[in-house]
Amino acid sequence: MLDRKTLVLNRSWMPVTTTTVRRAVVLMARGVAGAVHPGTFEVAQWETWIERGPDDVGRLRGIGFDFPVPEVIVLTTYNGCPDLPVAFTRRNVYRRDSHECMYCGRSPGNGRLTIDHVQPRSRGGETSWLNCVTACVSCNARKADHTLEAIGMRLRREPVVPRWPGGLDPRSLRERPVWHRFIPAKALSATLGDKTA
Ligand SMILES: [Zn+2]
Repeated sequence: MLDRKTLVLNRSWMPVTTTTVRRAVVLMARGVAGAVHPGTFEVAQWETWIERGPDDVGRLRGIGFDFPVPEVIVLTTYNGCPDLPVAFTRRNVYRRDSHECMYCGRSPGNGRLTIDHVQPRSRGGETSWLNCVTACVSCNARKADHTLEAIGMRLRREPVVPRWPGGLDPRSLRERPVWHRFIPAKALSATLGDKTA
């Protein structure tokens, strides 16, 4: 339970990251965050939360303690919006490209997608956000070691370094519908538009 995730909002109620329940409890105990009731949006500081927190959420129980799990916390002073980098992974490249082949536009499913180096590795192309795109198996095979100009293929979109709410990976977002009301609709659909589980 302590390793479950808690959604962290900044002072303006913008989601900034997720943390563990353990860390959320520490932040609350230090007085730098309050727990948000996900149904009523009421904010409770540490003592109020442990004494009179809601009884319709999960509870943390141990020797000498028993209190509601903070599902969402709001920081009392921090108002930044950290631009947390999105990890460069195969899965995140697919997500950025909406699981579509950047050459033919088809979505054959992750098992039939590959990562293509726009500037081929054999010609010094880097493995980076700006040089890697999602490609279906057949487009990748057709392009092979050619440059786009040489083979006459075109990208449907220029690759970019993606930005989406830091730390909000689709899986935890899907598992925690209670968070959805705290996340801007656009970010929510962008993240959950992901077709992988
Ligand atoms: Zn294709």
